[in-house]
Amino acid sequence: MKIWKILSPKVLTEEERPDNITTDTQAKVKVTRVLLTDEELRSFNGSAKLKYPVIPGRFAVGIVGETGTGCVSVEKNTRVYIHDVTPCGKCAQCAAGDTDSCADIQVAGTNRNGYLRDFVVAEESELSPLPASVSDEEALFIGVVSVCENVIGRLGVTKGMHVAVIGAGETGNILSQLLIYHQAVPILIDADDEKLAVAAQCGIYYTLKADGSLAENINRITGGRSVSGSVYCSFCGLSPDLPFEITAPGGTVVYAGFTFPEITAQLKTALDKRLTLTAVTNDYSNNAAAINLLVNKAVNFAPFRLQKRPVADLAQIFASETQKMEKGIRVNYSILNMI
Ligand SMILES: [Zn+2]
Repeated sequence: MKIWKILSPKVLTEEERPDNITTDTQAKVKVTRVLLTDEELRSFNGSAKLKYPVIPGRFAVGIVGETGTGCVSVEKNTRVYIHDVTPCGKCAQCAAGDTDSCADIQVAGTNRNGYLRDFVVAEESELSPLPASVSDEEALFIGVVSVCENVIGRLGVTKGMHVAVIGAGETGNILSQLLIYHQAVPILIDADDEKLAVAAQCGIYYTLKADGSLAENINRITGGRSVSGSVYCSFCGLSPDLPFEITAPGGTVVYAGFTFPEITAQLKTALDKRLTLTAVTNDYSNNAAAINLLVNKAVNFAPFRLQKRPVADLAQIFASETQKMEKGIRVNYSILNMI
Protein backbone atom coordinates (compact mmCIF):
# COMPACT_ATOMS: atom_id res chain seq x y z
CA MET A 1 0.00 0.00 0.00
CA LYS A 2 0.98 3.59 -0.51
CA ILE A 3 1.99 5.87 2.37
CA TRP A 4 2.89 9.55 2.59
CA LYS A 5 5.63 9.96 5.17
CA ILE A 6 7.45 12.98 6.64
CA LEU A 7 11.09 11.86 7.00
CA SER A 8 12.25 15.05 8.75
CA PRO A 9 10.91 18.63 8.80
CA LYS A 10 9.79 19.67 5.30
CA VAL A 11 10.83 16.37 3.69
CA LEU A 12 7.82 14.42 2.38
CA THR A 13 8.15 11.05 0.62
CA GLU A 14 5.81 8.50 -0.91
CA GLU A 15 6.47 4.82 -0.25
CA GLU A 16 4.95 1.45 -1.05
CA ARG A 17 4.58 -0.86 1.94
CA PRO A 18 2.78 -4.19 2.23
CA ASP A 19 0.15 -4.29 4.97
CA ASN A 20 -2.22 -7.17 5.57
CA ILE A 21 -4.66 -8.34 8.19
CA THR A 22 -2.79 -10.34 10.83
CA THR A 23 -5.55 -11.18 13.35
CA ASP A 24 -9.18 -12.22 12.82
CA THR A 25 -10.50 -9.10 14.61
CA GLN A 26 -8.81 -6.72 12.16
CA ALA A 27 -10.24 -5.05 9.07
CA LYS A 28 -8.52 -3.48 6.07
CA VAL A 29 -9.96 -0.05 5.25
CA LYS A 30 -9.60 1.93 2.03
CA VAL A 31 -8.98 5.50 3.20
CA THR A 32 -11.24 7.86 1.23
CA ARG A 33 -10.83 11.26 2.93
CA VAL A 34 -8.42 12.84 5.42
CA LEU A 35 -8.87 16.18 7.18
CA LEU A 36 -5.91 18.52 6.74
CA THR A 37 -5.55 20.76 9.80
CA ASP A 38 -2.87 23.07 11.14
CA GLU A 39 -1.60 20.09 13.20
CA GLU A 40 -0.51 18.30 10.00
CA LEU A 41 1.20 21.52 8.86
CA ARG A 42 3.13 21.75 12.14
CA SER A 43 4.16 18.10 11.72
CA PHE A 44 5.43 18.97 8.24
CA ASN A 45 7.35 22.13 9.14
CA GLY A 46 8.85 20.68 12.31
CA SER A 47 7.29 23.07 14.83
CA ALA A 48 5.29 20.18 16.38
CA LYS A 49 8.62 18.67 17.57
CA LEU A 50 7.60 15.11 16.73
CA LYS A 51 9.73 12.01 16.53
CA TYR A 52 10.39 11.50 12.80
CA PRO A 53 9.72 9.75 10.51
CA VAL A 54 5.94 10.00 10.88
CA ILE A 55 2.90 9.34 8.70
CA PRO A 56 0.69 12.41 9.29
CA GLY A 57 -3.12 12.56 9.17
CA ARG A 58 -5.16 12.39 12.36
CA PHE A 59 -8.76 12.38 11.12
CA ALA A 60 -9.87 9.97 8.40
CA VAL A 61 -12.85 8.14 6.98
CA GLY A 62 -12.82 5.10 4.72
CA ILE A 63 -14.61 2.04 3.43
CA VAL A 64 -13.94 -1.46 4.72
CA GLY A 65 -12.55 -3.66 1.96
CA GLU A 66 -11.73 -6.86 3.84
CA THR A 67 -12.44 -8.22 7.33
CA GLY A 68 -11.01 -10.93 9.58
CA THR A 69 -13.29 -13.86 10.36
CA GLY A 70 -13.89 -12.59 13.92
CA CYS A 71 -15.24 -9.13 12.95
CA VAL A 72 -18.82 -8.52 14.06
CA SER A 73 -19.45 -4.73 13.80
CA VAL A 74 -18.03 -4.07 10.33
CA GLU A 75 -18.20 -5.91 7.01
CA LYS A 76 -17.05 -5.32 3.43
CA ASN A 77 -18.28 -1.87 2.22
CA THR A 78 -19.07 -0.50 5.72
CA ARG A 79 -18.27 3.23 5.76
CA VAL A 80 -16.24 3.99 8.90
CA TYR A 81 -14.52 6.68 10.96
CA ILE A 82 -11.03 5.46 11.85
CA HIS A 83 -10.40 6.44 15.50
CA ASP A 84 -7.89 9.24 15.96
CA VAL A 85 -6.99 8.32 19.55
CA THR A 86 -6.66 4.75 20.77
CA PRO A 87 -5.63 3.19 24.09
CA CYS A 88 -2.06 1.85 24.28
CA GLY A 89 -3.10 -1.63 25.41
CA LYS A 90 0.02 -1.87 27.59
CA CYS A 91 -0.32 0.42 30.64
CA ALA A 92 -1.71 -0.74 34.03
CA GLN A 93 -5.17 0.74 33.31
CA CYS A 94 -5.35 -0.93 29.89
CA ALA A 95 -4.16 -4.24 31.38
CA ALA A 96 -6.98 -3.98 33.95
CA GLY A 97 -9.50 -3.49 31.12
CA ASP A 98 -10.08 0.21 31.85
CA THR A 99 -8.95 1.47 28.43
CA ASP A 100 -10.92 4.75 28.90
CA SER A 101 -8.35 5.75 31.55
CA CYS A 102 -5.30 4.76 29.46
CA ALA A 103 -2.19 6.54 30.72
CA ASP A 104 -0.50 6.57 27.30
CA ILE A 105 -3.17 7.47 24.71
CA GLN A 106 -1.94 6.87 21.15
CA VAL A 107 -2.69 9.73 18.76
CA ALA A 108 -2.70 9.14 14.99
CA GLY A 109 -0.08 11.22 13.19
CA THR A 110 1.59 12.23 16.47
CA ASN A 111 2.95 9.40 18.65
CA ARG A 112 1.79 6.71 16.24
CA ASN A 113 1.35 6.68 12.48
CA GLY A 114 -1.54 8.60 10.96
CA TYR A 115 -3.82 7.98 8.01
CA LEU A 116 -2.21 9.59 4.97
CA ARG A 117 -2.08 6.22 3.21
CA ASP A 118 -4.32 4.37 0.79
CA PHE A 119 -5.14 1.49 3.19
CA VAL A 120 -5.22 1.16 6.97
CA VAL A 121 -5.30 -2.17 8.81
CA ALA A 122 -7.00 -1.63 12.19
CA GLU A 123 -8.71 -3.58 14.95
CA GLU A 124 -12.46 -3.35 14.38
CA SER A 125 -12.76 -1.79 17.87
CA GLU A 126 -10.90 1.20 16.39
CA LEU A 127 -13.51 1.70 13.66
CA SER A 128 -16.90 3.40 14.07
CA PRO A 129 -19.48 2.54 11.39
CA LEU A 130 -21.12 5.72 10.04
CA PRO A 131 -24.88 6.22 9.75
CA ALA A 132 -26.03 7.20 6.24
CA SER A 133 -27.19 10.62 7.54
CA VAL A 134 -23.62 11.60 8.52
CA SER A 135 -21.60 12.72 5.48
CA ASP A 136 -17.88 12.02 5.09
CA GLU A 137 -17.20 15.74 5.59
CA GLU A 138 -19.10 15.75 8.91
CA ALA A 139 -17.52 12.47 10.01
CA LEU A 140 -14.02 13.95 9.63
CA PHE A 141 -14.89 16.20 12.60
CA ILE A 142 -15.88 13.35 14.99
CA GLY A 143 -12.58 13.75 16.89
CA VAL A 144 -13.01 17.54 17.15
CA VAL A 145 -16.62 17.17 18.37
CA SER A 146 -15.42 14.65 20.93
CA VAL A 147 -12.76 17.05 22.29
CA CYS A 148 -15.40 19.83 22.49
CA GLU A 149 -17.74 17.53 24.42
CA ASN A 150 -14.90 16.84 26.88
CA VAL A 151 -14.50 20.63 27.31
CA ILE A 152 -18.24 21.03 27.95
CA GLY A 153 -18.07 18.27 30.56
CA ARG A 154 -15.10 19.93 32.25
CA LEU A 155 -16.94 23.29 32.41
CA GLY A 156 -19.92 21.70 34.15
CA VAL A 157 -22.20 23.52 31.72
CA THR A 158 -25.69 24.39 32.99
CA LYS A 159 -28.69 25.91 31.19
CA GLY A 160 -28.19 29.61 30.49
CA MET A 161 -24.52 29.60 31.62
CA HIS A 162 -22.39 32.25 29.85
CA VAL A 163 -19.16 30.80 28.47
CA ALA A 164 -16.45 32.84 26.72
CA VAL A 165 -14.78 30.95 23.88
CA ILE A 166 -11.49 32.55 22.87
CA GLY A 167 -10.49 31.73 19.30
CA ALA A 168 -13.00 31.40 16.46
CA GLY A 169 -11.12 28.77 14.43
CA GLU A 170 -12.76 25.41 13.71
CA THR A 171 -12.53 24.16 17.33
CA GLY A 172 -13.87 27.38 18.90
CA ASN A 173 -16.67 27.55 16.35
CA ILE A 174 -17.74 23.90 16.82
CA LEU A 175 -17.47 24.24 20.61
CA SER A 176 -19.73 27.32 20.54
CA GLN A 177 -22.33 25.51 18.41
CA LEU A 178 -22.29 22.57 20.85
CA LEU A 179 -22.63 24.92 23.84
CA ILE A 180 -25.80 26.31 22.22
CA TYR A 181 -27.01 22.72 21.68
CA HIS A 182 -26.44 22.13 25.43
CA GLN A 183 -28.47 25.32 26.18
CA ALA A 184 -25.50 27.38 27.35
CA VAL A 185 -24.74 30.88 26.00
CA PRO A 186 -21.36 31.08 24.25
CA ILE A 187 -19.63 34.40 23.60
CA LEU A 188 -17.11 33.77 20.83
CA ILE A 189 -14.07 36.08 20.75
CA ASP A 190 -11.43 36.57 18.07
CA ALA A 191 -9.33 39.27 16.42
CA ASP A 192 -10.21 37.91 12.96
CA ASP A 193 -13.40 39.44 11.46
CA GLU A 194 -13.62 36.74 8.80
CA LYS A 195 -13.70 33.92 11.39
CA LEU A 196 -16.35 35.78 13.39
CA ALA A 197 -18.45 36.21 10.24
CA VAL A 198 -18.30 32.45 9.56
CA ALA A 199 -19.34 31.86 13.19
CA ALA A 200 -22.34 34.14 12.80
CA GLN A 201 -23.36 32.17 9.67
CA CYS A 202 -23.16 29.00 11.80
CA GLY A 203 -25.79 30.47 14.13
CA ILE A 204 -23.50 31.68 16.93
CA TYR A 205 -25.33 34.73 18.26
CA TYR A 206 -22.70 36.54 20.35
CA THR A 207 -19.45 37.13 18.47
CA LEU A 208 -17.05 39.76 19.80
CA LYS A 209 -13.92 41.34 18.42
CA ALA A 210 -10.93 41.06 20.80
CA ASP A 211 -10.33 44.79 21.21
CA GLY A 212 -10.35 47.53 23.86
CA SER A 213 -14.13 47.30 24.35
CA LEU A 214 -14.17 43.53 24.98
CA ALA A 215 -14.79 43.65 28.77
CA GLU A 216 -17.49 46.27 28.32
CA ASN A 217 -19.21 44.19 25.60
CA ILE A 218 -19.12 41.04 27.76
CA ASN A 219 -20.65 43.01 30.65
CA ARG A 220 -23.43 44.19 28.37
CA ILE A 221 -24.24 40.62 27.24
CA THR A 222 -24.07 39.07 30.74
CA GLY A 223 -25.83 41.90 32.53
CA GLY A 224 -22.65 42.79 34.44
CA ARG A 225 -22.03 39.27 35.81
CA SER A 226 -19.23 38.38 33.35
CA VAL A 227 -18.74 34.73 32.33
CA SER A 228 -18.52 31.81 34.75
CA GLY A 229 -16.43 29.73 32.36
CA SER A 230 -13.87 30.49 29.63
CA VAL A 231 -12.22 28.31 27.03
CA TYR A 232 -8.92 29.30 25.42
CA CYS A 233 -8.41 27.54 22.08
CA SER A 234 -4.81 26.57 21.36
CA PHE A 235 -2.98 28.56 18.63
CA CYS A 236 -5.73 31.22 18.51
CA GLY A 237 -3.09 33.96 18.64
CA LEU A 238 -4.70 35.84 21.55
CA SER A 239 -3.18 36.39 24.96
CA PRO A 240 -3.33 33.27 27.19
CA ASP A 241 -4.14 35.43 30.23
CA LEU A 242 -7.18 37.00 28.53
CA PRO A 243 -9.49 34.40 30.21
CA PHE A 244 -8.34 35.59 33.66
CA GLU A 245 -9.56 39.12 32.94
CA ILE A 246 -13.02 38.15 31.70
CA THR A 247 -13.96 35.17 33.94
CA ALA A 248 -15.96 35.82 37.13
CA PRO A 249 -14.32 34.99 40.50
CA GLY A 250 -14.48 31.25 41.28
CA GLY A 251 -15.00 30.39 37.58
CA THR A 252 -13.32 27.76 35.39
CA VAL A 253 -10.81 28.31 32.59
CA VAL A 254 -10.17 25.44 30.16
CA TYR A 255 -7.23 25.45 27.72
CA ALA A 256 -8.25 23.27 24.79
CA GLY A 257 -6.47 21.96 21.72
CA PHE A 258 -4.68 19.01 20.17
CA THR A 259 -1.28 20.45 21.05
CA PHE A 260 -0.16 23.64 22.77
CA PRO A 261 2.48 26.16 21.72
CA GLU A 262 5.05 27.47 24.18
CA ILE A 263 2.98 30.01 26.12
CA THR A 264 3.41 32.00 29.32
CA ALA A 265 0.72 33.75 31.32
CA GLN A 266 0.73 36.14 34.27
CA LEU A 267 -1.15 34.20 36.98
CA LYS A 268 -1.83 36.87 39.61
CA THR A 269 -5.35 37.74 38.39
CA ALA A 270 -6.30 34.03 38.17
CA LEU A 271 -5.07 33.42 41.73
CA ASP A 272 -6.76 36.54 43.14
CA LYS A 273 -10.04 35.40 41.54
CA ARG A 274 -9.57 31.75 42.71
CA LEU A 275 -10.13 30.47 39.16
CA THR A 276 -9.90 26.76 38.38
CA LEU A 277 -7.45 26.23 35.50
CA THR A 278 -7.51 22.98 33.55
CA ALA A 279 -6.79 21.60 30.08
CA VAL A 280 -8.46 19.30 27.59
CA THR A 281 -6.21 17.80 24.96
CA ASN A 282 -5.92 14.24 23.66
CA ASP A 283 -8.41 12.78 26.11
CA TYR A 284 -10.03 9.46 25.33
CA SER A 285 -12.67 10.12 22.67
CA ASN A 286 -16.33 9.34 22.97
CA ASN A 287 -16.89 8.71 19.28
CA ALA A 288 -20.37 7.23 19.74
CA ALA A 289 -21.63 10.39 21.49
CA ALA A 290 -19.99 12.56 18.81
CA ILE A 291 -21.66 10.58 15.99
CA ASN A 292 -24.99 10.93 17.76
CA LEU A 293 -24.56 14.73 17.90
CA LEU A 294 -23.81 14.76 14.15
CA VAL A 295 -26.91 12.63 13.43
CA ASN A 296 -28.90 15.25 15.38
CA LYS A 297 -27.28 18.01 13.26
CA ALA A 298 -25.98 19.79 16.38
CA VAL A 299 -23.21 21.35 14.26
CA ASN A 300 -23.59 23.26 10.99
CA PHE A 301 -20.40 22.82 8.93
CA ALA A 302 -21.69 24.39 5.69
CA PRO A 303 -20.30 27.92 6.36
CA PHE A 304 -16.75 26.42 6.69
CA ARG A 305 -16.84 25.91 2.90
CA LEU A 306 -14.19 23.20 3.20
CA GLN A 307 -11.98 23.04 0.16
CA LYS A 308 -11.45 19.54 -1.31
CA ARG A 309 -8.04 18.80 -2.76
CA PRO A 310 -6.49 15.73 -4.37
CA VAL A 311 -3.81 13.91 -2.34
CA ALA A 312 -1.64 13.93 -5.48
CA ASP A 313 -1.06 17.66 -4.74
CA LEU A 314 0.01 16.99 -1.14
CA ALA A 315 3.63 18.16 -1.43
CA GLN A 316 2.53 21.44 -3.01
CA ILE A 317 -0.29 21.91 -0.47
CA PHE A 318 2.07 21.35 2.46
CA ALA A 319 4.58 23.82 1.02
CA SER A 320 2.09 26.62 0.31
CA GLU A 321 0.01 26.20 3.50
CA THR A 322 3.00 26.06 5.88
CA GLN A 323 4.38 29.16 4.18
CA LYS A 324 1.10 30.94 4.96
CA MET A 325 1.16 29.66 8.54
CA GLU A 326 4.76 30.78 9.06
CA LYS A 327 3.74 34.28 7.93
CA GLY A 328 1.14 34.30 10.70
CA ILE A 329 -1.83 33.83 8.37
CA ARG A 330 -4.30 31.43 9.96
CA VAL A 331 -5.04 28.53 7.61
CA ASN A 332 -8.43 26.91 7.25
CA TYR A 333 -8.98 23.18 7.47
CA SER A 334 -9.39 21.41 4.14
CA ILE A 335 -10.19 17.90 2.94
CA LEU A 336 -7.76 15.62 1.14
CA ASN A 337 -9.43 13.37 -1.36
CA MET A 338 -7.58 10.04 -1.20
CA ILE A 339 -9.25 8.34 -4.19
ZN1 LIG B 1 -2.99 2.24 28.09
